[in-house]
Amino acid sequence: MIKIHFLGTCSGTEPMKNMHHTSTLLDIGGSLYWFDAGECCVHTAVTSGIDIMKSEAIFVTHPHIDHIGGLANLFFAFDKMIGMHKKSLPNGNTLEVFFPEHNTFEAIKTVALSGSISLRDFRFTLNEHGISDGVIFDDGKVRVKAKSNHHLKDDGADGVFHAFSYLVEAEGKRILLSGDVKSPSELDYLISDGVDLLVMETGHHKVSDVCEYAVSHNVKALRLNHHGREILGNRVAAEELTASYAERYGISIKLAYDGMTEEY
Ligand SMILES: [Zn+2]
Repeated sequence: MIKIHFLGTCSGTEPMKNMHHTSTLLDIGGSLYWFDAGECCVHTAVTSGIDIMKSEAIFVTHPHIDHIGGLANLFFAFDKMIGMHKKSLPNGNTLEVFFPEHNTFEAIKTVALSGSISLRDFRFTLNEHGISDGVIFDDGKVRVKAKSNHHLKDDGADGVFHAFSYLVEAEGKRILLSGDVKSPSELDYLISDGVDLLVMETGHHKVSDVCEYAVSHNVKALRLNHHGREILGNRVAAEELTASYAERYGISIKLAYDGMTEEY
């Protein structure tokens, strides 16, 4: 069984009531896999009753604040649980982290450790991995495939900013989590001939365009997250729109909200 926890569902806006920036957690057979770590993600997880010490890996789509604002706090929480409560992480107290850019990752580690009396390392092993297109993780239970996407702005060091989207294959299911993409069609490579669940960002796209993409690509269930101004401005209208697509095409479509949990 795969459980999906939507810890934060907002795009990179100013603070919004009852919403935090993006973070999604998959519980696959009791092991936890994080996809982005926006503000407050660890607080939402722990106060929802999730045992964060079952975490195996963290996958970051791109190093923008609405996707990594809670990562230092997440590392701090692991360290605190080990130091104060004698807990440990799986696999010999090791965490795998897939992060697209090394310097920002080092900065996050420094922030996470800034409360220690003397400069020290974490009480757990943090394995940093860069990301490239293709299968980046396979522990025999869970396989994760990455694909780089364009973002809205051409602001990367190479002239084109990249975010990554991730296809998760586990327990016979295919779950696709989008990064921030310039167009839904950037998911074509990973979606292939269909997925059981598409978790799609709507910060840069019209809700109708995302629904149109899902219904034409053999998506069994669509969950919208990383909400942008259309949904934030009129959630009721967006829910009516998604409900009309769901009814017309016979697929499950919902707007995700912070704290929502589902099983697949
Ligand atoms: Zn974003």
